[in-house]
Amino acid sequence: MIPILGELTPGTTQRHLIKLPGAALANDEPRPVISVAGTRPGPVLFVNAGVHGGEYPAVEAVIRLSKSLDPKKISGTVILMPVLNLPAFRTRTPFVCPIDNINPNRVFPGDPHGSYSEQMTHALINEFVVYADAYVDLHGGDIPEALVPFVICRSGDDEVSRRSKAIAMAFGLPYVLTVSKPVQPSKGSSSYAAAAEKEIPAILAEAGGVGQMQEEAVELLVSGVLNVMRHLGMIAGDTPATTGKDEARISDDEINSKSRAKRTAHRAVATTLLAKFEWVYTKNAGIWYPKIAPGDVVKEGQQVGTVGDLFGEILEEIISPVNGVVLFLTINPSVLENGLLMGIGVA
Ligand SMILES: [Zn+2]
Repeated sequence: MIPILGELTPGTTQRHLIKLPGAALANDEPRPVISVAGTRPGPVLFVNAGVHGGEYPAVEAVIRLSKSLDPKKISGTVILMPVLNLPAFRTRTPFVCPIDNINPNRVFPGDPHGSYSEQMTHALINEFVVYADAYVDLHGGDIPEALVPFVICRSGDDEVSRRSKAIAMAFGLPYVLTVSKPVQPSKGSSSYAAAAEKEIPAILAEAGGVGQMQEEAVELLVSGVLNVMRHLGMIAGDTPATTGKDEARISDDEINSKSRAKRTAHRAVATTLLAKFEWVYTKNAGIWYPKIAPGDVVKEGQQVGTVGDLFGEILEEIISPVNGVVLFLTINPSVLENGLLMGIGVA
């Protein structure tokens, strides 16, 4: 089913330590991967976190799913990879992989002869994603970023984009953003776009941030993946609410987080659809004083913060270029020239 994992036994959860192919990755420590093979036939869902190394609630959500999914209650197979970008995770490096200083989520679908990040993303797509019926890439704000939970997928009327959007809506976060092209000029694209190019419905879901382990974010991401599994018919129940009866999480020591996650999943989520992602930058290096918070609605022309110098003089007023909602915000005060300050979702 997934050649690099070898034979999977129905009705079991198996732990794998995987050496990804690629000359640049030859000396890597093996990456943990967990397969949860259901007793009944069904789709293959691939879920990973850690494309960015400092997005810890996403990593924890994958770990928690691996411990709590009951293969005897699943139709199909769930493949879980807690951390793709292990070099960044080990060194607490935000945004990029420290080996080549490249943001892996700008070079999908990768290149088997390219740099470390290109070989890593190529391996992810070709050893895992192409064998899946659906792909969920879990993220959050990286170490200097705060955000409101949202899902991104490819826009379009084609079959894969429509199925991706249905999965994005089923996930159950407050915002779903469909985009037609990369938000930044880059060599490649993002995980979900590269997967969609290969005809695999895919989403990127974000919750949590600022280098911490927010329990609510972990639960949102766990619930979201369970909602996707319901949407795909892999576990019983309607989306986005759980039935509470055929819950796929079983561990007794997780009773508390279980009931909290259920409350989260049961909460009626009004999802707002957004169609454009506008990123705001500072021209000057300096100290960033935001006047807004993630989730705030902003108006075109509104001053959303200032950047000052080290004498305390204002160098620049930051003005919102659009009407929209602040989806992510750089909260670390030190910013570089042309530094990214925030992303605004536009309806
Ligand atoms: Zn990320």
